[in-house]
Amino acid sequence: FEAALKYRRVMLKVSGEALEGSQGFGIDPTVLQTIASEVAAAASEGVQIAIVVGGGNFFRGVDRWAGLDRATADYVGMLATVMNAICLQSALEGLGVQTRVQTAIEMQEIAEPYIRRRAIRHLEHGRVVIFGAGTGNPFFTTDTAAALRAAEIGADAFFKATKVDGVYDCDPAKNPGAKLHRRLSFRDVLDQGLHVMDETAITLCKENDIPVVVFNLTKQGNVLRAILGDPDIGTSIG
Ligand code: UDP
Repeated sequence: FEAALKYRRVMLKVSGEALEGSQGFGIDPTVLQTIASEVAAAASEGVQIAIVVGGGNFFRGVDRWAGLDRATADYVGMLATVMNAICLQSALEGLGVQTRVQTAIEMQEIAEPYIRRRAIRHLEHGRVVIFGAGTGNPFFTTDTAAALRAAEIGADAFFKATKVDGVYDCDPAKNPGAKLHRRLSFRDVLDQGLHVMDETAITLCKENDIPVVVFNLTKQGNVLRAILGDPDIGTSIG
């Protein structure tokens, strides 16, 4: 039945903000479990899944806590993503899913270093691969890291999990009448300055023809629906 799958290999970007749930900081165990169980369900259908986790629930470089310079603050942010990566790994393994964490900054006691060909091999073996430490470089975001890894591993689609239903014409939190876009082109996103991801990330997806699907992770079943190719989910950008 694998032939019926819309996507063979996908990239799922889970932000730190998603992981913190309503707590405002750290990891909400319920959210972690929910994400893990849906990823587990999608993986059992035969979709190869790579995940990039953010770190904003612990630390965001732009906040420059205690007057740190930007590069140093960004390194702290990258370390924060590793905490999320190994927690998500643990939740997935608890559900019997085979996983590997690969980090862009070497820390071999807790994870493999990022090796592209090895990551692809893990995916081919049905292991969920979680990429930590972003790109390993300051001045980038984890959205960009996810777009980069998606291109490197030849992902068929990029799923951006958010707390809202997709891309709106204005901020839905401030405007109750905000209209949800169902379909957009990369050009629309760039020209209209629509808030999806930073421009570097969007441009990477555009240049490598990787369709982006923005969807709401807080609605039960959505991660699974998205990965299995439900066309009615969120906003599709291509
Ligand atoms: N970061 C970085 N380089 C990367 C990816 C991330 O320097 O390639 C740092 C940056 O400081 C960022 C932090 O890690 O603020 C956490 O990542 P991000 O804010 O993208 O996480 P999210 O918003 O998804 O929680």
